[in-house]
Amino acid sequence: MSYCSILLPDAAELRLTRVISESDFLAVEVEVARAVVPCPGCGRVCSRRHSYYVRTLADLPSHGVRVQLRLRTRKFFCDARACSRRIFTERLPRTAAPYARCSLRLSEAFRNIGFVAGAEAGARLARQLGMATSPDTLLRRMRQFVIGNRWIPRVLGVDDWAWRRGHRYGTILVDLERRSVVDLLPDRSAESFAAWLETHPGIEIISRDRAGCYAEGATQGAPQAVQVADRWHLLRNVSEALQRVVARERKQLISATATVHQELGAVAVVRAPSLPAVSRLPSRAEQSSQQKRNQRLASYREAMRLRQTGSTQEEVARKLALSTRTIRRWEQAGQFPERAPVPPKRKQIDRWVSYLERRWREGRSNALALWRELRQQGYRGSRGAVQRWATRQRQIALPPAVSGVPRLLFPSPRQATWWLLQEPAARDGKQNAFVNALEQLSPAIANVAQQAREFVSLLRERRPHQFAKWLERNQTGELRGFVKSLRQDEAAVRSALTLPWSNGQVEGHVHRLKLLKRQMFGRAKFDLLKQRVLYAAA
Ligand SMILES: [Zn+2]
Repeated sequence: MSYCSILLPDAAELRLTRVISESDFLAVEVEVARAVVPCPGCGRVCSRRHSYYVRTLADLPSHGVRVQLRLRTRKFFCDARACSRRIFTERLPRTAAPYARCSLRLSEAFRNIGFVAGAEAGARLARQLGMATSPDTLLRRMRQFVIGNRWIPRVLGVDDWAWRRGHRYGTILVDLERRSVVDLLPDRSAESFAAWLETHPGIEIISRDRAGCYAEGATQGAPQAVQVADRWHLLRNVSEALQRVVARERKQLISATATVHQELGAVAVVRAPSLPAVSRLPSRAEQSSQQKRNQRLASYREAMRLRQTGSTQEEVARKLALSTRTIRRWEQAGQFPERAPVPPKRKQIDRWVSYLERRWREGRSNALALWRELRQQGYRGSRGAVQRWATRQRQIALPPAVSGVPRLLFPSPRQATWWLLQEPAARDGKQNAFVNALEQLSPAIANVAQQAREFVSLLRERRPHQFAKWLERNQTGELRGFVKSLRQDEAAVRSALTLPWSNGQVEGHVHRLKLLKRQMFGRAKFDLLKQRVLYAAA
């Protein structure tokens, strides 16, 4: 490649005539290489020249110096009798768009900078690199960008995302096979989802939340597609049903805790963080870390079994697709090595717990008064947090702590629900003791928990043939509301029990979308946010 062709946006289309060094930029004079050109009206090849004029275009900088292209452009006559164009200006499709003030490659650079850095920061960066521009120009380039032929996915995941939590929602559409965002919709409605599906025919499977606007939209817009109820939403629904029963029997939580405390009284019991989240269901991340732990535990047990039956470390490693180092480490540990838990987020109130506990023992049990005291001493947290702490203290009807033995705090209904849903092998000793005590104290909880665990295992192990019986068994009883909702959406729920698709990965895409939204501050207009999301996915 000669130096001349480096300077040119397109070496086949243009020819360099001269380079002039102006005070703070380079002027590059070029002419068009071809002698004959096609008429843009009729396509006939023309060579009869009408006139010349010089077109000025900004181009990519050279060695950090601004470059101006001076393009000697020609006008031609079209002699075709039937053509409506008598005179036309030649087109340069690989150099610049008609009427554009900058070259295609500079325009592309602006767009990329805009997408990566955002308009404000991008414009500052571009100026430093020798490309004069403004935030508005970058925004325009980003909006003009047509994301090339978006494909039509075979398996589509649909979910919502929040513009502002609890206020306004949009819709995200993900190709579950390519793990890539396909499109964003500005709202969350059956109509807009149906309309999108109608313009994107051929989707075979749609994974969506429980019966709602997406179910309706899918039925309208893609009646031929198989709908799959998202497994995570199903798990959430069943645990909500169980949690309602647990919350109703709250007193039994306290009794069960007391029982466990007596049983394990002399043993040091790990103390729960001082203020566990109040009634929030386990997040997807928590569930998946629990699942990972279960998988590791299963591998651990299998590895130890194989070792005891005489397999070598190498054989076990190969069979379980693990490294021999892992097997060796497990053997040396002598028991299942737990991963260190992620420490809970520190809250303001955590720093004041010992003070609060002292005052509580001294008889100060009014939350408002405690809050006033704390504030005088520099506490910056909320009054609600102090109130929740006090409520919790009142609920702990436990024998006083034996010195040196931390007390076992009783779990929230949500925490207890989570333990109840686990298989016994997935719980630790303390949790197992608690669940056993609770189930003995409350037959109602024991029964619903048993049914809920069965549902979870039907779903996890995909056993659709046992689903009808399960529905029948729970037709009446505590889970009847949940069963009714399953029946209303039965085909999609059955698909969840047979097909591998679920919306797990959509969570990750929504997270990235949130990061982009945050990066755009208040300027996150929908069209631009969509451009950035699709650009990142392309
Ligand atoms: Zn023509």
